Amino acid sequence: MRTISIAIDGPAGAGKSTIAKIVAKRMNIHYLDTGAMYRAVALKAIEMGLNCKEPGQIIPILSLTDLSISYCQDQQHVYLDGRDVTDLIRTPQVSAAASDIAVIPEVRMMLVKIQRELAQQYSLVLDGRDIGTFVLPDADKKFFLTATVDERARRRWLELIDKGYKMDISEIKKDIENRDMNDMNRTFAPLRKAEDAILIDTTGKTIEQVADEVCSHLTDILTLHKEW
Ligand code: C5P
Repeated sequence: MRTISIAIDGPAGAGKSTIAKIVAKRMNIHYLDTGAMYRAVALKAIEMGLNCKEPGQIIPILSLTDLSISYCQDQQHVYLDGRDVTDLIRTPQVSAAASDIAVIPEVRMMLVKIQRELAQQYSLVLDGRDIGTFVLPDADKKFFLTATVDERARRRWLELIDKGYKMDISEIKKDIENRDMNDMNRTFAPLRKAEDAILIDTTGKTIEQVADEVCSHLTDILTLHKEW
């Protein structure tokens, strides 16, 4: 049986992961948060005291890194060298480091290989930056979610407060702007909308509204999926 792949790309804080989870649930397939993989490698580098901006320090640890994904009650868990790091990778420090290591082509190729293998095995809604353009250029449907930088900063701020991190919203805005710059300007697989991706501006929209808008473009795939 063929698997289905739905790509949801866009900048940090555009609502990709929230929407991807809802869509995956509605379609009864798994959700793959590819950013979590970059975060896990960044966590390892931080714990080893390495500089994430230095490819010469990061590349040698890749062959010694065992990264895997599993699902427990629909929740994605990320394992780094056999340890569940799902919660540890959500700190602002890891966010910034992930954006730095994501520039390194060797890191990307290692993670893209895992992402492609998972997409061959399972039907997935994948969220990331380069899914529609590079990881799965033949994905069944592609979306590109955006929102103003102020709205994205406000969402991340609320998310972090919820997790117990108190941060200044202006700091978060700066972090988001830096990450956008890194993601859009890297040479290898930069963040950009695939030509055939559906653009959705989520500014001022509720989660339900965006999820419904995404799903309204998936009726053909849903019908196919039910037939399989
Ligand atoms: O999506 P999230 O914010 O968790 O991703 C963390 C970082 O990983 C991003 O800032 C981005 O630099 C990088 N990333 C990427 N390509 C992906 C997913 C994430 O470069 N497909």
